[in-house]
Amino acid sequence: MDLGIAGRWAVVCAASKGLGKGCAEALVKEGVNVVINSRSQQVLEATVSELQRLNPNSEIRHVVGDITEPSVRDQVLAAAPQVDILVNNAGGPPPGDFREWGPEQWQSALNANMITPIEMIKATIDQMAKRGFGRIVNITSSSVKAPIAPLGLSNGARAGLTGFVAGLARQPQLASRNVTVNNLLPGKFLTERLRSNFAHSAQTSGRTADDVMNAQQQAIPARRFGSAEEFGTFCAFLCSQQAGYFTGQNVLLDGGVYPGTF
Ligand code: NAP
Repeated sequence: MDLGIAGRWAVVCAASKGLGKGCAEALVKEGVNVVINSRSQQVLEATVSELQRLNPNSEIRHVVGDITEPSVRDQVLAAAPQVDILVNNAGGPPPGDFREWGPEQWQSALNANMITPIEMIKATIDQMAKRGFGRIVNITSSSVKAPIAPLGLSNGARAGLTGFVAGLARQPQLASRNVTVNNLLPGKFLTERLRSNFAHSAQTSGRTADDVMNAQQQAIPARRFGSAEEFGTFCAFLCSQQAGYFTGQNVLLDGGVYPGTF
């Protein structure tokens, strides 16, 4: 299926590894030009080369830096001639006990997982509406639907973004101009982030990281973790020409874990 977005420009934040990289790969396969970002220059440059090999016809640009910093966001936005597609992503906050967190930890989680995506949206969405095409996808978490106790910082900060997006996406001046805003909620995808969560659970429960991993896998009806590639493919569809009537939604990709009817 041709997604009808070849030649468009996308910004994919936090995309040298994991789910962000999966989204950038899927968009590049569709012929989209991308600006990708992450903090580690070496890893980011290696990802640029991989993306370029995937599709020599797409233009790949990169900006090194922490996306939670306003000056880095400005550089990322300036690197694209225009932003037709925006994929918001950043590292998730660490797990822990809320009794150990103070305002500093909360500010940091809110900045990464709520304020930064909102600032990126603010900088791009009105131009999208003017041009009559825009696709915004926020990578959030299944914890928005079913909170994960040790990830309290994530549960809280991402719920804030979700509430904001629910109101924003339904504004007629955006929806009627073919601008969609959706959230993609990963369950368990085998990335570095997930592996570090195994290590934390192993430490707190006295098991090995392998035991934790196997037990978590068995608790998923699909009996496997998701891959960044399948996550990216979903993201690319949400960014497609065809997905213009799909907005304000939270799409859960979790291999059947969430037990509700809806
Ligand atoms: P990952 O494999 O650790 O990859 C994270 C990527 O983001 C890396 O490229 C990293 O590169 C970059 N990054 C992190 N913080 C950044 C920042 N402040 N500025 C710029 N780049 C940054 O993580 P992932 O599994 O793909 O997770 C992506 C998001 O989905 C996270 O918010 C995570 O909490 C959420 N999530 C993941 C899962 C899962 O199963 N994997 C489930 C639920 C939610 P640098 O470190 O070099 O910057």
